[in-house]
Amino acid sequence: MKSHVKAVVIGGGVVGCSVLYHLAKAGWTDIMLIERSELTSGSSWHAAGGFHTLNGDPNVAKLQAYTVQLYKEIEEISGQSCSLHLTGGVMMADTPERMDFLRLAHAKGRYLGMDTELITPSEAKAMFPLMDEKNFVGAMWDPVEGHLDPSGTTIAYSKAAKKLGAEIVLRNRVVDLTQQPDGTWNVVTEQGTVHAEHVVNCGGLWAREIGRMVGVELPVLAMEHMYLLTEPMPEVEEFNKSTGREMIGVLDFKGEIYTRQERNGILLGTYEKACKPWSPVNTPWDFGHELLPPDLDRIAPSLEIGFKHFPGIEKAGIKQIINGPFTFALDGNPLVGPVQGLTNFWCACAVMAGFSQGGGVGLALSNWMVHGDPGFDVWGMDVARFGEWAGLRYTNAKVRENYSRRFSIRFPNEELPAARPAQTTPLYDTMLANNAVMGDSWGLETPLWFAPKGKEPKDIVSFHRSNDFGPIGEEVRATRERVGVTEIANFAKYEVSGPGAEEFLNRLMTNRMPKTGRIVLTPMINEFGKLIGDFTIAKAGEDRFMIWGSSAAQKYHMRWFEKHLPKDGSVRIHRFDQTLVGLSIAGPKSRDLLQKLVDVDISTKAFRFMDFREMAVGGAPCMVNRITYTGDLGYEIWMAPAYQRLVYKAIKDAGEEFGLVDFGMRALLSMRLEKNFPTWFRELRPIYGPFEGSMDRFIKLEKNDFIGREAAAKEQAEGPKLRRVSFIVDAADADVMGDEPIWAKVSKDYGTVEKPHGYGAPRFDHKGKEVRGSKAAEGASAVRGIVDGDWRVVGWVTSGGYAHYVQKSMAQGYVPAALAEDESAGLFEIEILGHRRPARINVEAPFDPSGEKMRT
Ligand SMILES: Cc1cc2nc3c(=O)[nH]c(=O)nc-3n(C[C@H](O)[C@H](O)[C@H](O)COP(=O)(O)OP(=O)(O)OC[C@H]3O[C@@H](n4cnc5c(N)ncnc54)[C@H](O)[C@@H]3O)c2cc1C
Repeated sequence: MKSHVKAVVIGGGVVGCSVLYHLAKAGWTDIMLIERSELTSGSSWHAAGGFHTLNGDPNVAKLQAYTVQLYKEIEEISGQSCSLHLTGGVMMADTPERMDFLRLAHAKGRYLGMDTELITPSEAKAMFPLMDEKNFVGAMWDPVEGHLDPSGTTIAYSKAAKKLGAEIVLRNRVVDLTQQPDGTWNVVTEQGTVHAEHVVNCGGLWAREIGRMVGVELPVLAMEHMYLLTEPMPEVEEFNKSTGREMIGVLDFKGEIYTRQERNGILLGTYEKACKPWSPVNTPWDFGHELLPPDLDRIAPSLEIGFKHFPGIEKAGIKQIINGPFTFALDGNPLVGPVQGLTNFWCACAVMAGFSQGGGVGLALSNWMVHGDPGFDVWGMDVARFGEWAGLRYTNAKVRENYSRRFSIRFPNEELPAARPAQTTPLYDTMLANNAVMGDSWGLETPLWFAPKGKEPKDIVSFHRSNDFGPIGEEVRATRERVGVTEIANFAKYEVSGPGAEEFLNRLMTNRMPKTGRIVLTPMINEFGKLIGDFTIAKAGEDRFMIWGSSAAQKYHMRWFEKHLPKDGSVRIHRFDQTLVGLSIAGPKSRDLLQKLVDVDISTKAFRFMDFREMAVGGAPCMVNRITYTGDLGYEIWMAPAYQRLVYKAIKDAGEEFGLVDFGMRALLSMRLEKNFPTWFRELRPIYGPFEGSMDRFIKLEKNDFIGREAAAKEQAEGPKLRRVSFIVDAADADVMGDEPIWAKVSKDYGTVEKPHGYGAPRFDHKGKEVRGSKAAEGASAVRGIVDGDWRVVGWVTSGGYAHYVQKSMAQGYVPAALAEDESAGLFEIEILGHRRPARINVEAPFDPSGEKMRT
């Protein structure tokens, strides 16, 4: 065993071996994988080996597609077979709602380059004759599904990594990790200490314990999971013989089961409601190649539905039941990337679908370690997406909820109840008393909308407009015509101070820093010129800046800030979290209202648009920004939590004469739509350049040499490829939710908007016709093939909804820049729940296009 290496990967499951392979492939060959026992000694050996590309997050879906196409490569390099069976699979809908869900998934697939098809239950039965098709209303076919040999695949990765120069040390547990003053690590193992620049936690079932070695409680929990294998079935053999094909994979949402052919029989697994965590506090180090005792009673309700839906399986004898543990994060996606607050400590864990995701995780992480950037939009699996609130018990409740809902529909207006309330502001009880429907905003209870008096404050979940539609409309109209107040404690808040503060921010941000008492809006971009943040910054004093940003990105942004902090101590950065809370008042009467609560002049001239001032509001020391996300005249008022009730009461009392209303986050988001304002993680994400994101006026290339300046200058000089645009949609009773395809009637080629997805392995359409070499291999050009007459998919929606004041359904999204700028290309359609609705680009904000109202 070497004593010094560039990187140590801890754990020889499929994920660790993939990370090792990708690091070696990226040129880091001085690397070592350390495995406690033999390879695949965690979850990997007893997996069902299924793989698929579909994922709720399109960016994760892309990395899953990469994983599937990688298997040929590692087989070739290693000489080890993965036993790949690319059978294709169907998802079966038993209700119209579930069919809506499949229509949405199918629509998303259009711009991801997926070849999914909506098919009838009978067509599905033709590929899986064991089902009773009368239980279903429709299905979606996905050709990129199948199964493989889990151990063979893990070994193929490891052999390929070794061929490229990586070292693998078996039967050697990592017992401790200690960091050196220079940021490197001593990896203490049973066989001695290895010194490494970087450490990667691929500990799978023990990832939590490895996190604890460095003082981090990772939000990951193992769950027991069962699947059964039947005896050989004559029906299966007969099907194989008569068609020359294997039976496909089937996912049955209602039964919460997945099933497929395994040898001459069937494999059937469940995500049962009565799920059970395994080793909820500590994972025993002596757990090895063992299985857990099966518990048929627990999965009986799923099996009952399963046997009704697939009567052919009921008749078969059960040969074996596998019950094994595997790990999940709160939302079921992996935890990948550098851990904020630590140096050179990386995670690739909580990978619940290692054979769909392992390759993509390895690629993204190796890019990140070797080149400083994952190379993809990996927010959906970034370890930074959860805060400190996601502790052991919170994780336990959320993971159980997620597991038991794995095949349940999540409606766009659905808030999930587990582990709530976690964090609350001092106004929580007041908001409940006001009949607020609360939502979870990065672990904080936040008012979404207010139900009318006498009505239960509860969302009726739906893909269509629902019971919040009327009340949100009232909140918006009252705010736009009079004045409204809302809680904004969920915004991220930071203070950057010290003699180097201004220079530091000028280096990180694309806009100029403001003068004392003034505010600027500014994007932040990375070295590659991609959007990684969008902030409001106020200069509060000579060496002191206040910053507000996206709540969910707090750890993500802190990681970036800390990475670039000067080593000389000239800059300090503080994240307030809930030690600073806020209220926003907006609407034409907001100034009159605020004036009653302060003892300074806040007239238009004395307190201008984009001014910042510290002042007492209702007697409480506050910071006030003259700015609001509603795009109206308005103010954001920030205070210590101890003062929040006082300030709120003062606003409510003073507001009575102006007809003040409470409004929630959904009204705020509706109002930003009619101003064409973008949101972080929807319109603005690390896959877009600042000019693509239409943030042109905040990019000051001439101010100084900021991070990403060169790339941004190049984007501007060459012209952005895409453009963020706003649409007015002729919607019926459902608005866009995000990720819908945008169609255009085009007579010329405006360029490809898609990233490659296809690959050369044999694939079949649902009628069994091989599509090898055509759609399968073409990748990007396959998407250009999604054509309907002159209509073509040209882009995708990022977010939208109903803009209540202007009474229009609106959407924002990306299309090729040349198309956005071509005024003659006017005909668009946006696909909502499978129906293409007419849409037109809307250049000017429909509410107050000149911005006069917010400046008055
Ligand atoms: C019943 C069942 C069915 C499944 N079916 C599927 C499926 O169909 N498709 C799919 O994609 N996924 C499936 N999975 C999930 C899949 O098994 C996991 O996603 C995958 O195995 C995770 O791999 P990993 O490398 O992250 O973790 P693990 O496989 O748990 O590997 C972690 C490794 O790290 C080692 N290790 C831990 N701590 C240390 C230490 N301190 N020092 C040295 N070594 C250490 C362990 O010994 C272990 O070998 C299934 C899981 C189960 C239980």
